[in-house]
Amino acid sequence: MNKKKACKRCRVFVEGDECPLCKGNQFTQSWNGRVALLDASQSLIAKRMGVANNGEYAIKIK
Ligand SMILES: [Zn+2]
Repeated sequence: MNKKKACKRCRVFVEGDECPLCKGNQFTQSWNGRVALLDASQSLIAKRMGVANNGEYAIKIK
């Protein structure tokens, strides 16, 4: 099974060739854990992770 790739900079999962958040193209498949943020502006998890956008994120990347 193919593991999803996550942006190295913002840790969001990316489907295409460009990160929709930072427009970067540095991805990694070495990540652990995932979290879906539906209300990032209200979420303590989002605050702790330092992300401001809704979406699905890897909790840890290597
Ligand atoms: Zn990014």
